[in-house]
Amino acid sequence: MSDAERTFVMVKPDGVQRGLIGDIVSRFEDRGLKMVAGKFMQIDEELAHDHYGEHEGKPFFEGLVDFITSGPVFAMVWEGQDATRQVRGMMGETDPAESAPGTIRGDYGLDLGRNVIHGSDHEDEGANEREIALFFDEDELVDYERIDETWLYE
Ligand code: GDP
Ligand code: MG
Repeated sequence: MSDAERTFVMVKPDGVQRGLIGDIVSRFEDRGLKMVAGKFMQIDEELAHDHYGEHEGKPFFEGLVDFITSGPVFAMVWEGQDATRQVRGMMGETDPAESAPGTIRGDYGLDLGRNVIHGSDHEDEGANEREIALFFDEDELVDYERIDETWLYE
């Protein structure tokens, strides 16, 4: 495998409440990505501010913090070739209304403020590693081989 990489992904409170965890996990599994960490958890105010710090001061920021702390989320780390960019592609655009059918946001959302999933930004250098470290301790990341790995990569 070239460009083996880890990325941070999270099913947001709307996705959890709507019962979409299983489907979203299946999509990444089917693609050949490997889950190396997963945690069902409640985000508190401090973590919400740390995670979404880049958006502080924007008009939607307080609503975003309220939303992301409004119920449990499912936080994950996925590993694979070019994982950060590939996951973003599978998610669709930030606005579900602009997301193609077949993408997660394009299949499950209609509104920008309820877009089901978070994934590290591949255009923001190091965002994946920063977000992984924010949500997981080093010893929560599990090193193992998927049995089909030899068939997933040339
Ligand atoms: P992402 O990386 O695709 O999730 O998008 P951004 O990093 O630009 O924004 C983070 C999150 O803030 C998005 O996923 C939305 O949940 C929310 N958000 C971004 N822009 C807006 C907006 O204009 N209005 C509202 N209500 N929410 C927004
Ligand atoms: Mg972003």
